Amino acid sequence: MSVNTALLRKIPKIDDILRQENIEETAQQCSHSILMESIRETLDSLRQRILAGEEDVPVEMADICEEVLRLTAQKNTMSLRPVINATGIILHTNLGRARLSDRAVEAIKSIAQDYNTLEYNLKKGARGSRYDHVEDLISKITGAEDAIVVNNNAAAVMLILSTMAKGREVITSRGELVEIGGAFRVPDIMAQSGGTLVEVGTTNKTHYSDYVNAITPETGALLKVHTSNFKIMGFFEEVTLEEMVEIGHSHNLPVIYDLGSGALVRLQDYGIQDEPNVLDAMKSGVDILSFSGDKLLGGPQAGIIIGKREYIEKMKKNPLTRAFRIDKLTLAALEATLRDYLDPEVALKSIPTLQMMCATKEELLLKGQKLFDLLNQNPQGYTVELTEDYGQIGGGSVPTQMIPSVVIALKTTKLSLDTLEKELRAVSLPIIARISKERMLFDVRTIEERHFSYINETLRKLCMK
Ligand SMILES: *Cc1c(COP(=O)(O)O)cnc(C)c1O
Repeated sequence: MSVNTALLRKIPKIDDILRQENIEETAQQCSHSILMESIRETLDSLRQRILAGEEDVPVEMADICEEVLRLTAQKNTMSLRPVINATGIILHTNLGRARLSDRAVEAIKSIAQDYNTLEYNLKKGARGSRYDHVEDLISKITGAEDAIVVNNNAAAVMLILSTMAKGREVITSRGELVEIGGAFRVPDIMAQSGGTLVEVGTTNKTHYSDYVNAITPETGALLKVHTSNFKIMGFFEEVTLEEMVEIGHSHNLPVIYDLGSGALVRLQDYGIQDEPNVLDAMKSGVDILSFSGDKLLGGPQAGIIIGKREYIEKMKKNPLTRAFRIDKLTLAALEATLRDYLDPEVALKSIPTLQMMCATKEELLLKGQKLFDLLNQNPQGYTVELTEDYGQIGGGSVPTQMIPSVVIALKTTKLSLDTLEKELRAVSLPIIARISKERMLFDVRTIEERHFSYINETLRKLCMK
């Protein structure tokens, strides 16, 4: 094979490319190194194609500039960026879990922009504590004596165990030794915290007497873990939180409960079963409770620990608290979110996770009709149908419940659904949708109306190609 040297020689020089009008314009707005990198990558790729014997390699200046501009734009795009969640999974762990309320977003912005009272007490004109901003609020909402917030719930569990069970035994049911989100495993967290796990019962059944019989002078606490992401069907028995509190307290042992998703409203009222809420758990008299900020609570990533003051005070003095400490932006969003819970009606209206979870079928149909009408105006290259399907809560919550939802089902002959799915991920505001029964589904529950016209324009462009 002879190398096409004529074609190789046609590749323009870097200096000539830099003198092109559209490249000069871009050079004004972007870093020189990114532009140069894009030019080099473009030229290298052309050379390699020519050397590999390809015939129709585009070496015209216009083509090259277009590719350079495409690459620079790509390199200048943020890696962490917004997407449209059309999956119908409300707390999608890969898509950032809970979407924040407008108030929480505003709070983040104003705290990020200005100096603030993070650790400053305005009344005293002296040093304050970052934990003061939400402690009272959490106590008011949950009825707990005291509270502390850390980075996430995994850190919360670690801090609890390290404070209350270091060098002691912690009794936990075998049925609750869960793995959550890949890296959070109850036995591993226990080992890291310096406590000794004492497993009782079996995978499917643990009895009252199992806990009682395992108590020794070495026992430091009883731990209950909500098995957030799975459910045992058939023969199953667990000891209730109330019973565990009874056992613990009759032996002078604290009872700890990792709730996982800490719902602060009674989801049963909205047709969502099996997800324990913080308010009911508190009534049991449990000593320490922990839950996530960005699951059913609908706030930022955080771990919230509530319970008896004597234990929380100890946690505040644990050096791990410094390592797990919550940052100011999270704290701002958390305070704003929690404030909404002072009035549950307000919370239901303003917190997106709750709004989406509680949306009625009528509301979803109305919303779906709007998107359908847009897409169905003179459709070209596709057909759409407004129909019903199922979504999920997600985030390791309510694993067995699919929630009925309303979807737009799109069919197209212009490109394969796999290609369409890929193209939808490649647009400026990526749209994450799913394929089912040879249709592309867009679940309207998790899509915001402000994105409808963008979705419409994008689908028209992609399906008309
Ligand atoms: C989700 C979950 C965790 C981990 O919480 P993060 O906030 O993701 O760190 C721990 N325990 C249970 C039971 C959970 O459901």
